[in-house]
Amino acid sequence: MPIPKRQLSPLIRKYVNGRRPAQAETRGLGELKPVEPAARRKGVPVLGDDQVYVIKYGTVYHTVWCPVVADSWDHAPRRLLVTLLAAVGERTRCAECNRHPKAAGASAAQEYHQQTRPTPEPPPPDAVVPLKVIGLAHGILFLAAGQEYRERFKETAVEPATPLWVDGRRDGMVVRLDSASDEPLVLVQLDPRATFRNGPYQVRLRHPLRRSATKPYAVESVESVGPVEPAP
Ligand SMILES: [Zn+2]
Repeated sequence: MPIPKRQLSPLIRKYVNGRRPAQAETRGLGELKPVEPAARRKGVPVLGDDQVYVIKYGTVYHTVWCPVVADSWDHAPRRLLVTLLAAVGERTRCAECNRHPKAAGASAAQEYHQQTRPTPEPPPPDAVVPLKVIGLAHGILFLAAGQEYRERFKETAVEPATPLWVDGRRDGMVVRLDSASDEPLVLVQLDPRATFRNGPYQVRLRHPLRRSATKPYAVESVESVGPVEPAP
């Protein structure tokens, strides 16, 4: 004997139907068709000319990185989608976006980062530090910097796969910085096929790629500073 369907009281029915008002409403606004953003800057989606931000289940679209978008990115980044302006359906333009009339696109992520990181980042001073070879043992090249760079080295991290460049070739990988002694060192693991070049080197510093980095500087690369060959 089939179990009779239970009748829902009008009150319960209203509750059940009312559970996902945002979704129901969103369906009426036209299907959401996410596209890849024109670019990503440090993970932040950057709008192209014809693109806008939409938040899943939202009823508006955003032309700039307004506080609503920033808040969505902070709390539910997967709900922040990018779609074409032509595909917003019945969604209306966000009022907050109007109060932030700056151009969408590249400036949005910049703006966002200026908001969250109060100091805009100038290139680090002493971005290039000269190095001299002091030894080579077991495939590790020891390069020393002047003692005046010791403090800077203490504030510098080595990120994974930081390259050693020799004549435009990747000849090894920076292993670590050592600022324990007066003469701060850069240790580089040479590629087994690489031939060691004696001569001056330099280390190039930059700001770290990760926002969560604990040190203010990172090694961009180590380069052999070859003598300039005279033209034949
Ligand atoms: Zn907005």
